[in-house]
Amino acid sequence: MSEAQSASSDDRSDTTRYDVVVVGCGGWGLAVLKVLTDMGLRVLGIERKEICHNLRNYMKNMMMHSFLSYMVLDPEDAILAREGNEYHPRIEELIQSYSDFAVKFDLPIKTHHQLVDIEGVKDDFALTVRDGEGRAVRLTAKRVVLATGSYDEPNLAGIPGELNGSVQHYFHEWEHISDQRVLFIGGGFSSADGIVALCPRNTILWVVRKSSEAVENMLHLQKTKWGQHDARLVNTEILTESRVISLENNTAVVQTPDGNITWNYDLCYMLIGHRPDQDLYTRLLNGNLEFDEETFESCQRPGLYLVGALAKKHLEHIGLTQNLCPDNEGVRYIERIRSAMQQELRCNYQKIN
Ligand SMILES: Cc1cc2nc3c(=O)[nH]c(=O)nc-3n(C[C@H](O)[C@H](O)[C@H](O)COP(=O)(O)OP(=O)(O)OC[C@H]3O[C@@H](n4cnc5c(N)ncnc54)[C@H](O)[C@@H]3O)c2cc1C
Repeated sequence: MSEAQSASSDDRSDTTRYDVVVVGCGGWGLAVLKVLTDMGLRVLGIERKEICHNLRNYMKNMMMHSFLSYMVLDPEDAILAREGNEYHPRIEELIQSYSDFAVKFDLPIKTHHQLVDIEGVKDDFALTVRDGEGRAVRLTAKRVVLATGSYDEPNLAGIPGELNGSVQHYFHEWEHISDQRVLFIGGGFSSADGIVALCPRNTILWVVRKSSEAVENMLHLQKTKWGQHDARLVNTEILTESRVISLENNTAVVQTPDGNITWNYDLCYMLIGHRPDQDLYTRLLNGNLEFDEETFESCQRPGLYLVGALAKKHLEHIGLTQNLCPDNEGVRYIERIRSAMQQELRCNYQKIN
């Protein structure tokens, strides 16, 4: 039985015919909701858990590398007013800022509503959504904006043992970890942040494919970002230009420039990036995430639009706040979705009403 079918034991429906349903209420979903609501369209945002659920998968005190002024959605944001444009917010502050934004502008959102499938065509989509109690809810919409991010499934390295319970793919709930041998795989900020957090009370091996210069450079940026210019990685051995080739039986086999070594670990963090929900996007788009660069409309399925990290992993800056950051890439993208929807729907909407 498919996921879409298994969701439908106690069927309910919302009889409103929405102009647009926005799926996913992270920063991008919220920004798009605000823009479309301001246009007078009949809009609904659905979010599978709480607002900004994906950001909640990370350490709440992790500092964002961007200035708040690039990510904030409300120019009158309280944290922005208190801390200024060049403040680097912690994840929990950004979540607070986005939650305040949703409340302040009374954005129409159903939390604990997860998109499972979409049937139909442009102007006449039927969405199957599962609510927090597992019941299926039907929604209809003329257009659907997909803002589900890119953090659903961890990237894997294709090595034996990587799906064992001792291998974690997200870094959260770490405060209790001490006196462990912890293996980190992956040369990005997530690993660096995790190691800074864990190294004082644990023994760490960090395996990266990068050169030692690249790691030094990244660590410098990372230390600066944490406001810890003198932070040192204690209890940590770094193997650069190396890769793990097996994780079986809590033993890592690492291929290094000097030959293979083995290292016994209690806990492993494999932090090599994430990707969108493959099953969902096989159902919705045949796995094809290509979209029109001007309008965001899916090349595979007209009437569906892809925005935010789902569309471009690097599309980090959001910004409805062009007065704060006029050179912000996000502002231009928000303008494009506004004009795409204006051309497509505003006339229809005026005719209907
Ligand atoms: C640790 C970390 C640090 C970062 N640092 C920075 C930074 O410094 N600067 C910067 O600009 N960016 C940074 N980013 C990236 C930034 O957070 C993302 O680019 C941004 O959050 C993407 O926003 P989004 O709305 O596209 O996706 P997300 O924030 O991922 O939101 C997607 C939402 O969709 C929901 N969703 C998913 N599937 C479904 C479904 N089927 N049904 C309903 N809802 C669904 C999710 O629950 C989630 O709430 C960082 C990200 C992380 C994880």
